[in-house]
Amino acid sequence: MEYYSTNRQSLPVSLQDAVLRGLAPDRGLYMPQRIGTLPRAFFNNIAQMSLQEISYAVASVLFGEDIDSDTLKEIVYDAMNFDIPLRHVTGDLYCLELFHGPTLAFKDVGARFMARMLGYFNKQAGGNRCVNVLVATSGDTGSAVANGFLGVPGIRVFVLYPQGKVSRIQEAQFTTLGQNITALEVNGTFDDCQALVKSAFIDKELNEAMMLTSANSINVARFLPQSFYYFYAYAQLAQREQDTANMVVAVPSGNFGNLAAGLVAKRMGLPIKRFIAANNSNCVFFDYLRTGQYAPRPSIATIANAMDVGDPSNFARILDLYGHSHSAICADISGCTYTDEQISQTIADTYRTCDYLLDPHGAVAFRANTELLQPGEIGVALETAHPAKFKGTVERIIDQPVEVPQRLQKFLEGEKRSIKINSGFHSFKKFLLQTV
Ligand SMILES: *Cc1c(COP(=O)(O)O)cnc(C)c1O
Repeated sequence: MEYYSTNRQSLPVSLQDAVLRGLAPDRGLYMPQRIGTLPRAFFNNIAQMSLQEISYAVASVLFGEDIDSDTLKEIVYDAMNFDIPLRHVTGDLYCLELFHGPTLAFKDVGARFMARMLGYFNKQAGGNRCVNVLVATSGDTGSAVANGFLGVPGIRVFVLYPQGKVSRIQEAQFTTLGQNITALEVNGTFDDCQALVKSAFIDKELNEAMMLTSANSINVARFLPQSFYYFYAYAQLAQREQDTANMVVAVPSGNFGNLAAGLVAKRMGLPIKRFIAANNSNCVFFDYLRTGQYAPRPSIATIANAMDVGDPSNFARILDLYGHSHSAICADISGCTYTDEQISQTIADTYRTCDYLLDPHGAVAFRANTELLQPGEIGVALETAHPAKFKGTVERIIDQPVEVPQRLQKFLEGEKRSIKINSGFHSFKKFLLQTV
């Protein structure tokens, strides 16, 4: 299947090229030419299916033309090898826990899938080329990508992060891995890291010397697999014999890749009644729903910092899916925005009254369901990170210690290895060239 650019100025490309390029040459985002649907029989059986079985069925519709079925099954089963349980919290409110992967955050899903798909395309191309993934991170993306790509043959990952500006636990998740993962500690800010990566992608000499690609959420191989777990949430509601026709999903949103993947799931036939785009104080999307005007602006720091985005990259995909119709978008998606104080209050209240500990991101979605559901609707909030990833913040809110899962603790025991570079492009380029 071909993938077109949302800006429609570049030619459609194959899945392989869309994955390798990330962004289209016209700066648009790639979208599949067609979004197939799943047959009725699939939905009749879904309550009896595992996450891996469901994911494979969905992946076959999305990628079946491009990857042979045995390989696709292997990729899916390997990437989706942890559970994504739906927890009942209270009344008609549920949380879909997306944080049981290696780095305890939902980005594991997309990162693990993309790594395996890229590994496959590499093997197809003869297996002797080396793909270099450059990723700038303020914390969470770097850890998910580094762990997702760890040990995948033919791929090297360079994680650029701002020195002293990520938490110790985040840093440990990408500096202690070794193997094909190199951590570059940049003497600068996150924006400097991002600028270095952007400059690298447009540097002619560098691109002739080595194959470079990105692993941020605009990449189709990270974006599309996020549709799998919407089906699994539905399956688990069906299993509990809940009224699945009234399922509403609240998505804590930053760059809106997660929500856009949910919209794709709906397009594939999954009967999600509607979505709530849950925002922290960075509310450009909320304002768009309200006014029809999209006005990007600089981000504001909040306690749900993975959602501190002022110009969400996947907004282009949402517009594209709805033919740029504001009214069509508003028919499927409503919005909300919460302050840090409201997020904190939600975490404290839910812990006290329901004995369920939310992280700051999931709390934004959970609160949205408590306030915006209509009678008869069932609210699923996507819980995108384990509360221990934001230990300090959550402990201050509930005034109790938060236990750190062993998986997270183990990263802290590893030996940190990083290479310090300054924020000038010249030294970064020189460094990359000497690795060829
Ligand atoms: C990245 C991230 C988000 C935002 O997801 P988008 O797809 O960018 O909207 C929400 N919560 C957590 C914990 C994240 O890491």
